[in-house]
Amino acid sequence: MSSVPGPAPPWRNDLRAALTRSRVRFDVPLKPFTTLRVGGAADALVELESDDELARLFEVIARHDLPWTVLGKGSNLLVPDAGVRGVVLRLGRAYATVTPGAAIHTLHAGAAVPNAQFVERCRRDGLGGLEFLIAIPGSIGGAVAMNAGAHQGETADALVSVCYFQWGLGIATAPAGDFAFAYRSSQLRAPLGRIVLSAVFRLQPVDESTSRARITQFQTYRRETQPRDFPNCGSVFKNPAGDFAARLIERAGLKGRMLGGAQVSEKHANFIVNRGNATAADILELIALIRETLLRETGVTLELELQQLVGTRLAGSSGSHIVPGAVSAP
Ligand SMILES: Cc1cc2nc3c(=O)[nH]c(=O)nc-3n(C[C@H](O)[C@H](O)[C@H](O)COP(=O)(O)OP(=O)(O)OC[C@H]3O[C@@H](n4cnc5c(N)ncnc54)[C@H](O)[C@@H]3O)c2cc1C
Repeated sequence: MSSVPGPAPPWRNDLRAALTRSRVRFDVPLKPFTTLRVGGAADALVELESDDELARLFEVIARHDLPWTVLGKGSNLLVPDAGVRGVVLRLGRAYATVTPGAAIHTLHAGAAVPNAQFVERCRRDGLGGLEFLIAIPGSIGGAVAMNAGAHQGETADALVSVCYFQWGLGIATAPAGDFAFAYRSSQLRAPLGRIVLSAVFRLQPVDESTSRARITQFQTYRRETQPRDFPNCGSVFKNPAGDFAARLIERAGLKGRMLGGAQVSEKHANFIVNRGNATAADILELIALIRETLLRETGVTLELELQQLVGTRLAGSSGSHIVPGAVSAP
């Protein structure tokens, strides 16, 4: 028996009417937008092209009490098999530019700039310090939100200020010190109710050959130590204090362990790879197995670095955004 689709919910029409420059699509499979290549569809995917439309988008979200979240380059994300309710927001080309900052040796980068592109721009401008981002396949927004880091460096080390959106506050710029940056964490992640729009970084002058040598060294290290043959999302767990998650997982005999289409990488035990047909459920089950085994055998509780893409509602609704700490706007 074929079912006749009912009328589109009114919020979909409102979204289309509110956004004319931004791309709005409904029921969009999110797999291709993530490096893990699992999960279902977004009710709505908005590729945002202006600050005005950001404000209008949030008026619609508030009016209809819709869940919302932000997708960067999807390199640290698990999309649930059931998909994501409400609005998934991606920053479009309008947020993908790099310009010189107001102060010497600073650059202002839009949140949608891919890390590799930013590193290349720094190299061309003779500015160093963030070369490690070449190894992290995300966007500047994701790097700031997650305080991405590698090779003894962290994004926050070079961060001067962040321009962000928060419902009720609008668009604000605040110094990096306001966002409680810590190991793979900040108060800027979308699940806490904020959207990074751009950031200013302070870099150090560096000659081109030194910068190029660092970039090559980081790329070579990655090729030698990380799986490249199957989709993955980088490290699944944060390293516990004074140890490495990969070492503990390997010692517990879990390297190579398969569950459905998900496998603990044979090359790097803190990576879970999608062997081709993994579901989000397979990955979550494997994560649970690893955590339970390690807790039982070593007493260590592994904390997730991987984020699940789930919409949350604006303050005042169930599942509301909670932003700890005060915000200082200029
Ligand atoms: C092969 C591989 C290697 C990796 N190596 C590293 C590594 O060495 N170090 C490391 O730190 N990470 C690593 N990662 C993980 C990942 O690349 C980083 O966490 C990256 O910073 C995520 O950026 P993204 O744009 O892909 O964000 P996404 O994965 O799309 O999003 C991650 C989180 O940030 C939020 N978010 C994204 N953009 C914004 C924004 N503009 N405003 C607010 N919130 C936002 C999302 O809602 C989500 O909660 C690796 C991943 C892969 C696949």
